[in-house]
Amino acid sequence: MGVEQLNPLEELRRRERQQALVAELGRSALTGTELPELFDEALAAAADGLAGARVEFCEPTPETTEPLITERELAAPIRGPERPLTVLAAHSTEEQPFSPDDGLFLRALANLLAIAAGREHADERRRASEASLGLLAEAGHMLASTLDYQETLVSLAKLVVPSLADWFIVDVVDDEGQLQRVAVTAADPGKQELLEELALNYPPRPGSRQPAGLALERGATVHFPAFTPEELRETTYDDRHYEIMVALAPHSAIAVPLVAHDRTLGALTFAWSESARTYGDSDLTLAEEVARRAALAIDNARLYRAEQAARDRTTFLGEASNLLAGSLDYTETLASVARLAVPRMADWCLFYMLSEEGRIERVAVEHGGGRQDVVRAILAGHELKPDAPSGVPSVIRTGRSELHSDATPVSLASDVDQPEELAAALAEVEVHSTMCVPLIARGRTLGALLLVSAESARRFSEQDLALAEELASRAALAVDNSRLYREVEERAEAAHALATVADGVIFIDRQGTIRVWNAAAEMITGIPASSVRGRGASELFPGWEQIAEAVPANTPAQAPTASPRTMPVTIYGRELWLSISRVASAEGVVFAFRDVTEDQRLEQLKSDFVATVSHELRTPLAAVYGAAVTLADRDLSGRPDLQRALIAQIVDQTERLTSIVSDILLTSELEAGRFRLTPGEIDPVAVARAAVEAARLRLPDGAEIEFDASPGAGTVETDAGRLRQVLDNLIENAVKYAPGGGRTTVHVAAEETLVRFTIADSGVGIPAAELERIFEKFYRLDPEHTRGVAGTGLGLYVCKELVERMNGRVSVESAVGRGSTFTVELPRR
Ligand code: ADP
Repeated sequence: MGVEQLNPLEELRRRERQQALVAELGRSALTGTELPELFDEALAAAADGLAGARVEFCEPTPETTEPLITERELAAPIRGPERPLTVLAAHSTEEQPFSPDDGLFLRALANLLAIAAGREHADERRRASEASLGLLAEAGHMLASTLDYQETLVSLAKLVVPSLADWFIVDVVDDEGQLQRVAVTAADPGKQELLEELALNYPPRPGSRQPAGLALERGATVHFPAFTPEELRETTYDDRHYEIMVALAPHSAIAVPLVAHDRTLGALTFAWSESARTYGDSDLTLAEEVARRAALAIDNARLYRAEQAARDRTTFLGEASNLLAGSLDYTETLASVARLAVPRMADWCLFYMLSEEGRIERVAVEHGGGRQDVVRAILAGHELKPDAPSGVPSVIRTGRSELHSDATPVSLASDVDQPEELAAALAEVEVHSTMCVPLIARGRTLGALLLVSAESARRFSEQDLALAEELASRAALAVDNSRLYREVEERAEAAHALATVADGVIFIDRQGTIRVWNAAAEMITGIPASSVRGRGASELFPGWEQIAEAVPANTPAQAPTASPRTMPVTIYGRELWLSISRVASAEGVVFAFRDVTEDQRLEQLKSDFVATVSHELRTPLAAVYGAAVTLADRDLSGRPDLQRALIAQIVDQTERLTSIVSDILLTSELEAGRFRLTPGEIDPVAVARAAVEAARLRLPDGAEIEFDASPGAGTVETDAGRLRQVLDNLIENAVKYAPGGGRTTVHVAAEETLVRFTIADSGVGIPAAELERIFEKFYRLDPEHTRGVAGTGLGLYVCKELVERMNGRVSVESAVGRGSTFTVELPRR
């Protein structure tokens, strides 16, 4: 073969050109061009048809009496009556070696020259030569005119009979290597029937005894100048064959192989019978020339058909690819591809997919005639057997295609649970041929494509299988893409969820590297993801492994069995209480956590509160108890002042108890949302004055309270009792947190839109960092700081809640050791 192969299209073009040149020379010979001129024309035609080669006539030598075809040299002798007249030779260049076609082209030119040269001799020969040239010209024209070779060969047979034979046979090797008799023609209608019987029952094969069989085997012309009965018997298989042959009565015969492009495509058989003529050497040349043209026509038609088929395939695959690229819903897409494949490729087209659980599911069933419901109904209820040795499961398991050119319902049903039942159902429809190919993408088998030839009776070939494989690989790619896309989408959704979830989520891989650190984790820990992602967990949180161990693990994709664990975690020196849950998988461990530091602190405060309140209650109770016991046990009739003092103590301490208990009750009402104000039009100055007067009655030694109010304060719409409670509380604190005595100033200021109460003391003061927190429930300053002043931590909380419900505002200004000033502002309306 050549160094530089021409592609089929270029090859077709070169051949067409060569055929045109031969036809041109034939025409010129027929119109009586003188020999020398004809030889010049032949040389020019050779140079043209073998573009790039050097051509010449040379003296015949013993080596050049036979035609020569090599990649570098071509030689075609021009036969004379006894010996070659001259030799038409061609020499190739380096880049463009000769093909076998080129050799045949040069021989065709040489044969034409030989036939034309024959004309120069006797008259008889001249006529024969002229007839031959005419026949060749016509045959050439006919064979070149169409690319449907079967039709052309039938017309050729009609042309050959009766001018070159009494009967004529064309045998052609089909696509699958079988010899097909495509044309039989006899001048005598009686013989036509016999020939047809011969064609049906005694087709030649390479190596069989008929002339065509011999020609096929030898790849050369077989000449029977005259048959003896023995010779004729030799060519037959059996008695009937011989009987037919005797009736066909061949007198003389030629069989010529049809050779093109180095391939034997079939054979032509010419026979003289009733006309009792015989074939001579010049007939051989003519028969060979007819055969050469027929072979070229057949090969051209095949090339064309192959080209056409390739183009159809490309178009089909293009359309399929468009469909596949069009949508990301792959079941829908596979259904449309299946619709495209029928009836073009097959009568039924089915797609099977492997589910995540490893089950094979039928996802698309289409029928070329629109009877997919019938096919579906037949297949429904027949589960595929996963371990079937052939069919869809085996193709999916092995990743190898299966082609059954000759299939049956039984072979098609072999991969299901009840094969006999399905085969019986399938018997109602035809099953001729099947092929099944795997859908493979990125090395994984995703499913299979099954194509069935039914009513079209089409027989699938290796070529069809190749097309199916191409289609399957594109479908697999599309399925894979759509799955990848879905995964990416899911991942994006998961990422979104991670970013928005309130729980901190972190993922630490098997190597201990932090891979995920979501927005909530950033918030809770105060550490940005950018500074931890990709870093080792142990370097950031020494001892995280112990934490991991302390938190019971759950398993991915299962209902959690272990509840979260609340524990203190120190992150960058900051102690946080986190409620942590853990999911461990092969890839690593996911921690989800929630910041419960606040809840934890409240818990702590609550337990402190219980201790404080117990203490707070016990002190006044002890005092009341003491006073009451004294009053009961001792006769104090002579000591009225002591009596009064004891009773005053009981009253005092009971008030204190009541106030503690009422703070506790009020707190629980506020928390439960059951609290309601009872507003009314009140005089703020009067309320404040009453509070101051009540406080003065209980003032410890060394303490004093001053009161003043700006004139014309007017009225406020609010709950008088609750306002009084707020002021009582603040005045009590002012006195209380000035242990050892101090001055408290209560002032009421009226402005246009609000009334402002200021309670300023000269007590211990409050550190700036605590100013916010003292209003929190249960919150108390360090007893060191307040020099052991008792309290529940509820007073300011209650104040703040009440004032806010009155639509007012309470605030504090203070400095340690310099006293505190609390301000309550209430709107007038
Ligand atoms: P308690 O019953 O402890 O007084 P409060 O809620 O009334 O509870 O006050 C909360 C804390 O705020 C007190 O424990 C105290 O430390 C601080 N505090 C309140 N009022 C004053 C004040 N006038 N001067 C200094 N500290 C104060």
